[in-house]
This record gives sequence, C-alpha cells and structure tokens, in this order.
Amino acid sequence: MLRCIRERGEDMNNHLSSSSTFDVVIVGRGPVGSTLANLLGLCGLRTLVLEREAKAYHLPRAVHFDDECMRVFQTAGLSEAILPHVILSPGMRFVDANGRLVLDWQRSAELTPMGWHLSYRFHQPDLEQVLNNGLERWPGVTVRNRCDVFGIEQDQSFVLVRYEDLGTGQLAAVRASYVIGCDGARSLVRRFIGSGMDDLGFHERWLVTDILLKRERPDLGDYSIQFCDPQRPATYIRGTGNRRRWEITIHPDEDALAAVEPERVWQLLAPWITPEDAEIERAAVYTFHSAIAKQWRHGRLLLAGDSAHQTPPFLGQGMCAGIRDAANLAWKLHRVLRGKAQPDLLDTYQTERAPHVREFIELAVRLGGLINTKAVEAGLATGIARDDGSIKLDVQKPSLGSALSAANTDLIGRLAPQFMLLDGRRGDDRVGYSFTLLADASFVDELPAQTSATFAQAEIKVIRSNEAAGLKSWLDANAKKAVLVRPDRYVLSATNCLEDLLKLLPAFSDVAAVPSAA
Ligand SMILES: Cc1cc2nc3c(=O)[nH]c(=O)nc-3n(C[C@H](O)[C@H](O)[C@H](O)COP(=O)(O)OP(=O)(O)OC[C@H]3O[C@@H](n4cnc5c(N)ncnc54)[C@H](O)[C@@H]3O)c2cc1C
Repeated sequence: MLRCIRERGEDMNNHLSSSSTFDVVIVGRGPVGSTLANLLGLCGLRTLVLEREAKAYHLPRAVHFDDECMRVFQTAGLSEAILPHVILSPGMRFVDANGRLVLDWQRSAELTPMGWHLSYRFHQPDLEQVLNNGLERWPGVTVRNRCDVFGIEQDQSFVLVRYEDLGTGQLAAVRASYVIGCDGARSLVRRFIGSGMDDLGFHERWLVTDILLKRERPDLGDYSIQFCDPQRPATYIRGTGNRRRWEITIHPDEDALAAVEPERVWQLLAPWITPEDAEIERAAVYTFHSAIAKQWRHGRLLLAGDSAHQTPPFLGQGMCAGIRDAANLAWKLHRVLRGKAQPDLLDTYQTERAPHVREFIELAVRLGGLINTKAVEAGLATGIARDDGSIKLDVQKPSLGSALSAANTDLIGRLAPQFMLLDGRRGDDRVGYSFTLLADASFVDELPAQTSATFAQAEIKVIRSNEAAGLKSWLDANAKKAVLVRPDRYVLSATNCLEDLLKLLPAFSDVAAVPSAA
C-alpha cells in the first residue's frame, strides 16, 4: 500500500550527511517545479530538484501563458530571457460548423495592470529550457536529473526521500524539511499524501499535433480558432516561428494509436493543411481531465501544478495555475523555514489556491462544452452579446479563496497592479520578492518616524504615489491610503488610517525581505 507515510517519533535518518540535507526537495522539474525552484533559490533556501527524465517532455503541451505568469517569471529574474521565445496572441475565436463567429475572445495589445501582455504564445520546451538555465544562478539549488523518486517517509522533524539514480542504478536518500510534489498528473507525492481527486466531469480524448510549415500560410491567421463542429470539434493555434498546433477530438470508437499515424493525422488535418505545406513535428493523443486534489498538504508534503489540479486546455491555464501555485507557496515556505511563521501558514496555500483554480477549470469545462456545441449557452455569463449574434468574451481572473487577511475590502485576495516607476523601472524590480506598501505619499510623510522605522526594519518596501505612474489614482479609486501587498503580488490588506497600519505591523515586523532577481 502506497499510503505509508510513517510518522515515527524517532530520528529515522540521522545517518545522512549535511550535504544530503535540504530545506526543500522538489519532485519533478517540469515548468512548475522549475519555477518553484527558481523562487526558492531567490529566497536562498537549500533546494534539491529530483527529476526522472534527462530532458524536457517531448510531446506537445502548453502554448499559452498569461500576464500574471510573466510577472512571476519577472520576479524570478527570467522575463527578459523568456521574451525572445514568445509572441503576443491577439486572441481566440469560436466559429460554428458553418464558419459563423459565435464567440470572440480578443486580447488587447496594451499592457495589462500586471505590467505585461494578457496572452503570450510559446513552445513549452523553450520555456522549460530558460527556467532550467535560470536554476544555475542559485548556489542553494541543486538539480539531479534521471533520478526517480520512489519512497517518502516523514516524521516530526524531516522528510526522507528515497530515489533511484537511473544513470548508475544506485539507490540514494536525502532529507528535507518539506517535499513538494511537482510531479505531474500521475503524482507519486499525491499518493503518499493519500489524496483523492474531485472529478469535475470532463474527460475527452483529443489528438494534439504540432506542424512545422514549409511555406508561408498567412491565411491560417494569428488568432486561435475553436471549430465548434459537433462532428469533430477542433482547435487551431498559431505557435511561435513556423510551428502551428491543431487539437482535434477523437471519437470514443477511434483507436488512439491509429490516430497518431501520419496518414491519419493528415486526413484529420485535411480541412486546413496538407503535406505540401508542412511536416508533422509530433502528434499525441491525450485524455483531457478536469480534476482537483482533495488534499494539497499532509504535514511536510505538499502538491503544486498538475499533481494538484488538471484542466482541459481550452483556456490555456493548466501550467499558468501551477505557476501561480509556485508563487503562492514559495514565500510561505521561506517564512516558515526561516522561523518567521508557524507551519500552519502552509494550510492557507490550499484554501487560497484551490477555489481560484476551480473557477478556471469550471470555465474551461464550459468552454469545452461550447466547442463541442453541446451547450452553446455555456460560459456566456462572462460575455456580452453583439449585433452580429456573436458574443464577446471577457475572462476575469478570480480572487484567492479565503485569503490570509481578515480585512474587509474588495482588494483582498486580488492581484495588485504593477506600477511603472518614474525612473522607468517596473515596480516589482525595485521591491523584489518582498512585502510592499503601495501608499499615498502624503500619508507616508505624515507617519510617525517610529512607524516608518519599523517598516524599514521589517524590510517592508514602500512605493509612494509620487514615485509611480497611476498609483495615486488607483489608491483613490479604491478609496485607500495604503495597500499592503504580499511577495506574490496579491493584496494582503488595505487601509485608510494610521491605527490600522500600526495593527498590521506586529504581524509583519519580522518579515525577511528577499532581493530582486532582476
Ligand atoms: C495538449 C496540451 C495543451 C496544453 N496547453 C496549455 C496552455 O496553453 N497553457 C497552459 O498554461 N497549460 C497548458 N497545458 C497544461 C500544461 O502543459 C501542464 O499544466 C504543465 O506541463 C504541468 O506542469 P507540471 O510542472 O505541474 O507537471 P509536468 O510538466 O507534468 O512535470 C512533472 C515532472 O515530474 C517528473 N516526475 C514525475 N514523477 C516523478 C518521480 N517519481 N521522480 C522524479 N520525477 C518525477 C516528470 O518526469 C516531469 O518532468 C496543456 C497540456 C496539454 C496536454
């Protein structure tokens, strides 16, 4: 039986040397494990990443990420390295079997309040390469590839992680304060946690194929197209460079192996493209699931990414959700491991993240219904009907589930904007991965010297309204003088009076700031 977490009082691992002891072991070096390791490296935590494979996953997967993810990559100091590998996406259109537009989901070409664009297209192995290269910057981070984790035991003090080095066949063990399962949909760590899954009801097989154009095909366009054809729903996505993606439904009576045969792939692609124009780079049949793990933490074990949740890809939010997990979890682990917070801070990770990801998955399932034209009305609550009968979709990011702060304002649990500083820098680059007070300049000026000193001592960074474009009007629009933002850029608290601000300080006076990676 796998659910064999041993919670023995005795020290089970005192034979391990200090070089085999880490603050955090991350199982899995996919995009989520790698992002988490970059953030923990930034925090200065001793982190080991154990990955079964030698290279990034070879089959087609994510092609889109959003402004919030880019902001996390910025925090990790990697946005500049990622930019050459992405293109902007103008949006997605849903057309019916007769080619009629039914839903239009445009993405603005303007920067969003996150300071980045709403939608980037990319090739997942390119992104993973940048994230993995980024790990080399952190002296505290070690990556061991071709290491297959097979055993996990925890006691009150540590977790013992057993793995096989697939290169040498040697068995080894390391000890960590926390183990994070970034080990994908079939997560071993989830099984050790003993968590079942909440099934949100969508399970369909789709052929996913990446095509490399041999000649220009501008008629294919830059928009993603969802072909809502009840006979054979399909998706077209413009990739980076000459890469183009099609995702096509496989019927229940069709054989998955036969579907990836080149001849069959070309048959399915025939409405759009032929071998004259392109070659098949890769093809796979996936069963898209919609599910959320019931339990994301057990003691010193936690889940992040696909191990905790899986979504059909219609919103392009599976990996994005995992990147958000990493951003939410890293600063909490840092505070707990540095003795600045009690371990129960880690329980807020699931209570905040699970409802947020559930909203995205439920919307993706509704959009999946629309693509299948089984439920044309599905998902339209978020859209505005237009004269031509089509609907303009506007997806709002949900707020965190029961967030840390009890303060009563709409801002709590929502992302704070990133303001451009008057010196031309992005605000996050100045404050780093730290708590930040976004404040009205006159409010800050009038604070007693002792209060300001306590902020400085706590290394809570301050951005004043006269230092950043748009900050004053944002504070005014929210009728607040000061807003306290967490390292993951979500609002912790907001206030108008000195008294409230002083009440906040004891809780955060011991916050250790982390430098900017930029
Ligand atoms: C067709 C398709 C399209 C998609 N499109 C999008 C999109 O546009 N946007 C988006 O945001 N998301 C998209 N996704 C989802 C996205 O690809 C995943 O959410 C993302 O890859 C999950 O990352 P992860 O790091 O959690 O897990 P994974 O990428 O699965 O990584 C898990 C890692 O753990 C390793 N591992 C597992 N078990 C062990 C073990 N016991 N020991 C050591 N290592 C282990 C694995 O080898 C693997 O490298 C798409 C997915 C698919 C299939």
